[in-house]
Amino acid sequence: MAIAAPSSQSQPSPLVDGLGRRISYLRISVTDRCDLRCRYCMAERMQFLPRDQVLSLEEIALLADLFIARGITKIRLTGGEPLVRRDIGELVRRIGRHLGSGLDELTLTTNATRLDSHAQDLFDAGVRRVNVSLDSRDPARFADVTRGGDIGRVFAGLDAARAAGLAVKINMVALKGINDDEILPMLRWCDSQGFDLSLIETMPLGDTGEDRTDHYLPLTQVIDDIAAEHPLAPITHRTGGPSRYHAVDGMRVRLGLITPLTRNFCADCNRIRMTCEGKIFMCLGHEDHVDFKAALREGGLDAVQPLVDRALRLKPAAHDFHIGANAPAATRRHMSVTGG
Ligand code: SAM
Ligand code: SF4
Repeated sequence: MAIAAPSSQSQPSPLVDGLGRRISYLRISVTDRCDLRCRYCMAERMQFLPRDQVLSLEEIALLADLFIARGITKIRLTGGEPLVRRDIGELVRRIGRHLGSGLDELTLTTNATRLDSHAQDLFDAGVRRVNVSLDSRDPARFADVTRGGDIGRVFAGLDAARAAGLAVKINMVALKGINDDEILPMLRWCDSQGFDLSLIETMPLGDTGEDRTDHYLPLTQVIDDIAAEHPLAPITHRTGGPSRYHAVDGMRVRLGLITPLTRNFCADCNRIRMTCEGKIFMCLGHEDHVDFKAALREGGLDAVQPLVDRALRLKPAAHDFHIGANAPAATRRHMSVTGG
């Protein structure tokens, strides 16, 4: 079905929420599907959306156009696993056309299992950096955390990214009793590979069939252990997201910390998220959202514009995550639905 383009070319207002925060960063979850089942992210038997409920390539691209016109300068494609979506290459090319004219950066978060066959196309479409999730470099442990993943695929993807000229940041969720002994080796390995590293605290999003309390590892503790071996110094480097970076003495790797539990970063949040169903969530940790899909399908982009302003008013001051015995998940949605 053809979708009506906006009828007016008048200069749209920039995206500023009710607390004066300027929104410039859009994360789009292009699919809720994934070829892995990371223990902290998904349940083993996840129910995925029927395909007709998922936005088409054309619909995602039109909504991206609208957001760029409203002042979004950075887009991250994520999921689920973005590279399992069949038309991902075309979507990246389509959004990539805005680079240099409104859009400053188009990037991707991936588990890298299919990156070997996509890296060059991503680069050719204007992508310059990717985040790759890797919680363990040990094949058996990786298979355990991801419930069956083949780490060889990830290493092949990383090689292809390097060959294509993509900068890589590794995302590692810090998990007590699972990969805490691998954090320092991962930092040294990233340094040797020319990658950056961000450590992430596990967030209580959706039911995974497992108790997150058992494996929650506050990064305040981790950072002290790292600093005892390699002195750290905070640096101003930013990539537009929630990572706060440190220089590591004697190394070129930048160490990012994503600390939703121990150090809330909401005061300067610049992000909104769109699910593959066209729902706009203003915060990862809240259920409030605005649904664009029906409006887009029935009234085209003109019907969506007022919804953007409604969404802005919904952005809460902060998330309120708790992990502990009997603490319920902050949302029923998994991270893979909203897009990490
Ligand atoms: N499949 C891609 C990947 O794994 O990189 C993209 C989607 S994944 C949901 C994005 C990021 O969210 C990954 O780095 C993953 O480790 C992280 N993540 C998923 N669930 C999380 C949770 N409950 N708490 C913290 N990080 C989570
Ligand atoms: Fe898939 Fe990424 Fe979630 Fe792992 S973290 S299950 S790779 S969406």
